[in-house]
Amino acid sequence: MPNYVFLGPPGAGKGTLGAMLCETYGNIHVSTGDILRAELASGSALGREVAECMEGGGLVSDELVAKLVRKRLGREDIAAAGFLLDGFPRTVPQAEALDALLAEVGLSLDRAVLFEVDQELLFKRMAGRRLCPACGAIYNTFFMPPRQAGFCDACPGTALVTRKDDNPETVRNRLAVYQEQTAPLIGHYAKKGLLTRVDGTPPKEETFAVLQAALGI
Ligand code: AMP
Repeated sequence: MPNYVFLGPPGAGKGTLGAMLCETYGNIHVSTGDILRAELASGSALGREVAECMEGGGLVSDELVAKLVRKRLGREDIAAAGFLLDGFPRTVPQAEALDALLAEVGLSLDRAVLFEVDQELLFKRMAGRRLCPACGAIYNTFFMPPRQAGFCDACPGTALVTRKDDNPETVRNRLAVYQEQTAPLIGHYAKKGLLTRVDGTPPKEETFAVLQAALGI
């Protein structure tokens, strides 16, 4: 199965489209954000180490994330199923570490997909996001508000919450960090002839169809 990297600013839909692709084609979804959030939630030593950095919207160290990815890509199931890396690499040193790691384990990257979305829309997607802590439903104050502001439609009386790194100041920081540290990766993959650009503005079903056509799958 082909191996993919999903690139793009936070809020561009990498996680959502990645889940759709993996569900349809069986690739293994490797999201460094999800791995790190699970460590945070478990209260592990690693989780405590990265908490402050993640909550402020900064990046955790290249060495630490590279180690997590190495551990996951080194497992046997990857070669047959193919991987989809979501949120990694995020810096040029991480991309170089990935190239070295893939060479070491005998895998290769087939495509790096860049999801492009306008800054203002990204801001609204993230800063407007609200979650129901009881049922996991996701709302957006700009695009999909609940019937009663601040409360879940399905769970009466349950107040919606904002992910810590979705507060407006952190969102601005995450977007700036993307421009500074992650956008240079576009050139890294373009030079290798692996880059495919997809407009991430439309609703997810539409973007997924464009993605499938772009990947020829
Ligand atoms: P995400 O869900 O991909 O937006 O990731 C959430 C947070 O986890 C980021 O804001 C970073 O603090 C951290 N993180 C995730 N992936 C990486 C990475 N490849 N390098 C450094 N930090 C990361």
